[in-house]
Amino acid sequence: MLEKRTEIKDTVNKVSKKVFLYGWVNSVRDHGKLIFVDLRDRSGIIQLVGDNKLLDGLKNEFVLQIAGQVQARPPKLVNPKIKTGKVEVKVEKVKILSQSLDLPFNVSDDGKEINENLRLKYRYLDLRRPRMRKNLLVRQRAIEFIRNWLIKNDFWEIETPILTKATPEGARDFLVPSRLQKGNFYALPQSPQQYKQLLMVAGIEKYFQIARCFRDEDPRADRAYGEFTQLDLEMSFVDEKDILSLTETLFSQMCQEVFPQKHISKKPFPRLTYKEAIKKYKTDKPDLRKNKNDSEELSWCWVVDFPLFEWKKHESRFDAMHHPFTAPKEKCVADLLAKKNLGKLQAKQYDLILNGYEVGGGSIRIIDPQVLGAVFEVMGHTPQKIKEKFGHLLQAFDFGVPPHGGIAAGLDRILMILQNEPSLREVIAFPMTASGQTAVMKAPSSASSEQLKELGIKKSPRLKS
Ligand code: ASP
Repeated sequence: MLEKRTEIKDTVNKVSKKVFLYGWVNSVRDHGKLIFVDLRDRSGIIQLVGDNKLLDGLKNEFVLQIAGQVQARPPKLVNPKIKTGKVEVKVEKVKILSQSLDLPFNVSDDGKEINENLRLKYRYLDLRRPRMRKNLLVRQRAIEFIRNWLIKNDFWEIETPILTKATPEGARDFLVPSRLQKGNFYALPQSPQQYKQLLMVAGIEKYFQIARCFRDEDPRADRAYGEFTQLDLEMSFVDEKDILSLTETLFSQMCQEVFPQKHISKKPFPRLTYKEAIKKYKTDKPDLRKNKNDSEELSWCWVVDFPLFEWKKHESRFDAMHHPFTAPKEKCVADLLAKKNLGKLQAKQYDLILNGYEVGGGSIRIIDPQVLGAVFEVMGHTPQKIKEKFGHLLQAFDFGVPPHGGIAAGLDRILMILQNEPSLREVIAFPMTASGQTAVMKAPSSASSEQLKELGIKKSPRLKS
C-alpha cells in the first residue's frame, strides 16, 4: 500500500504538514551540501530541498516517493513562475520507485523543433511536455462540454459497430478479414452514417456519438491518416435550419466556456450558398476572418445548397458530392428521377467552416427508396449492386422512416484550430505518422503464417515480409 498521497498542487495548503509526494524528477540542482530537486506530477511542480546524502544520485525522470515537510519559503525565495512557488518540501525520506535512462529529447520545452517521427516513436515521453498535456486536457474539456450539452438537450449517446460493412464517404475502406467466414471481410466504418440513419428508423429521434472514423486516403497536413474522431449527430423531424441552429449554438457555447480567450467574429454564423462562396471567394471553405494574424479570432460560417453530384473526370461518372444518402432540394427531385440536368441539381447539404477549414458537414437525408435508388443509379451502381451494398437500408426504409438529417464535425480539426496548433497530430494522443505508421508501436506489421492460414489468406510471393 502506498502512503496517502498529496498531489503537488495541494502542497500550498499544507504548510508545516508532513506529506507524501509521488512524481518524476524534473531537474536537479546540486548546491554542495544542499540539493534542490524539482519534482513533477500531473498537477504541477514543486521544489524539494534536502541534504546531499539524502538526494545524491538522483537523475532527471526518476520516479520518486518523497516523505517530507511543507515549509513556506522566505519572501525573497518565492518563485512566481510556478503555482507552488511560495512553498517547498524539506525532504526526510526518499524512495526511488524507478529509474530512467537519459531521454531522447527534452520534454520541458514546446518540442516543435524535434523531428516528428522521433517524437511519435517516444510519444509517451513527448506527452510529458506541458504543451501536449494541455492539449489533451483541453480536448477532454471540450468533449465533456459537448457530451453534457447534448445529453441536456435530450440526445442519446449510442455506440455503433467498428467491424461492419462499407459505408461510403468517398475514401477507400480499411478491410478486416473474417476468420469465421473465410474469404469475407469486414470494413471499418468511414462514418457511422448508415447506423445513425437506422437509429432514426428505430425511433431514437436524437442521437450522438463521439465516433472514430476510418478512411484510407492520402495524407494531407490538415487530415489525419487512417482514423479520426468526429462528433456525429442525427435528428428526426427536422429541417436544415434546425440542424444549423443547434450546431451553431453548441459550438458557440463550447468556445465561450472552454476557450474564453477566443472571440467569434460574427454571430449568427454567416450563411453562404455554395455558388456565392465559389463566386466570391473561389473556394467552398472561405476564411472570413477580419484579421488573419489575430490568433484569437474565430470565424465560423456555413456553406449551404451544394450540388448533389460532382463529375469525376477520371472515372467519367457522377459521384455524390457529400454522400449518397443526401436529399436533393424538393425542386430537383423530378429532374433526378428523370436523370436530367444532373450536374445542376442542388442538395440539402451544409458544411461548417472555421477559419477557412471545413470542420463539419451534413445533410437532410433521402427517405424515399425510389429517390435513393435513383442516386445510386446515377452514381453507376447496377440494381444488383445496390441490393448487395445497401439493401439493408432500403429495406429498413420500408418500415416507417421519419424525415431526418444530421451532421458530423471533425473534432481533431476543430481542436487543432482552437489550440493554435499547426497539425492535427498535436491534438491526438497517439497519431499516425504521415506515412501511416502508428505512434510507438510499429503497425502495420507482418502477420504470422499461422494467423494468415486461419484467415484463409495467402501472401503473394512478390510481397516481402
Ligand atoms: N457522415 C457524414 C460525414 O462523415 C456526416 C453526415 O452527413 O452527417 O461526413
